[in-house]
Amino acid sequence: MATFKAIRIDKADKGTTAALTQFDEAELMDGDVTVAVEWSTLNYKDGLALTGKAPVVRRFPMIAGIDFAGTVTQSSHPAWKAGDKVICTGWGMGETHLGAYAQKARVKGDWLVRLPDGMSARQAMAIGTAGFTAMLAVLALEKQGVSPNSGPVVVTGAAGGVGSVAIAVLARLGYHVIASTGRMAEAGYLKGLGATEVIDRAELAGQPKPLGKERWAGGVDSVGSTTLANLLSMTKYGGAIAACGLAAGMDLPSSVAPFILRGVCLLGIDSVMCPIAAREIAWRRLASDLDPAKLSEITHEIALDQVLAEAPKILAGQVRGRVVVKIP
Ligand code: NDP
Repeated sequence: MATFKAIRIDKADKGTTAALTQFDEAELMDGDVTVAVEWSTLNYKDGLALTGKAPVVRRFPMIAGIDFAGTVTQSSHPAWKAGDKVICTGWGMGETHLGAYAQKARVKGDWLVRLPDGMSARQAMAIGTAGFTAMLAVLALEKQGVSPNSGPVVVTGAAGGVGSVAIAVLARLGYHVIASTGRMAEAGYLKGLGATEVIDRAELAGQPKPLGKERWAGGVDSVGSTTLANLLSMTKYGGAIAACGLAAGMDLPSSVAPFILRGVCLLGIDSVMCPIAAREIAWRRLASDLDPAKLSEITHEIALDQVLAEAPKILAGQVRGRVVVKIP
């Protein structure tokens, strides 16, 4: 019986269990491309799946992990051949399809993006779903007409994964970036990434007014709830906020005032089922608009056998920037 190393999630009497174990190759799910996984990462959603804090996993047994980068070993898909370097994020991996914390993955060729020229598999996973989502948010703001000339942009959950990449990209594009964080001790880190101002997230946590003072032309929000409501109420006439996260909650205690009195737009960002053409654009832009030196500053590396210990930390908001996972 051929096996490979993987973090396996099983259903238990109460909740789920997760363990690094040997997984039987015969249990791999259908797919037309098999990949030797080289790097993965730890996202907020991985934290939820590994700890069982939210019902992310919909099939058991599951291999956890929503992102991988690696090399194709076998393919019957016309676009891919053995030796191709690929990235796969989302599409239900680690939820409904066996995921990325494994030496081997079998997926649909239609899910894969070619590793951009000049980007390593490790760098791709340092970006991962969080960084890819940050770029989708930046692209959405641009499409909506927000530019560096429109005024400042705000980034919430600034010291987290989405936030750190969003700041680095927006600053490189010439935006005046206001970083909102609960960790004011990380102000130096955030300024190093390119933030012009750092504000305490408590400023955005109070009861939102229908309309507040106009402070920014755009924003990238990974926090949700009251924070997003405050962001909207403080957005300048004609501005836009890209909403991608729920670190503080799924609710949105807002009013229609920013939309109907200031023409503000709320832009929804989803990375999981994002169509392949949009993915290719986002990864190309990440290759050109994210400084590799900044990416390296926000990244720390762990081994596959450290993932389970790191998972509760990301849910507790204790992880700074991005975590990259080396697959043995
Ligand atoms: P991280 O944990 O790395 O970052 C989240 C950050 O949010 C924290 O670092 C912290 O930043 C802030 N935060 C945490 N808890 C609270 C709270 N209670 N109130 C206010 N701020 C808080 O996670 P990611 O960056 O990987 O993901 C961020 C969010 O985006 C998650 O909700 C995730 O599910 C979502 N997401 C959505 C995607 C999509 O496709 N729409 C894809 C990827 C992520 P600080 O300490 O600076 O305040």
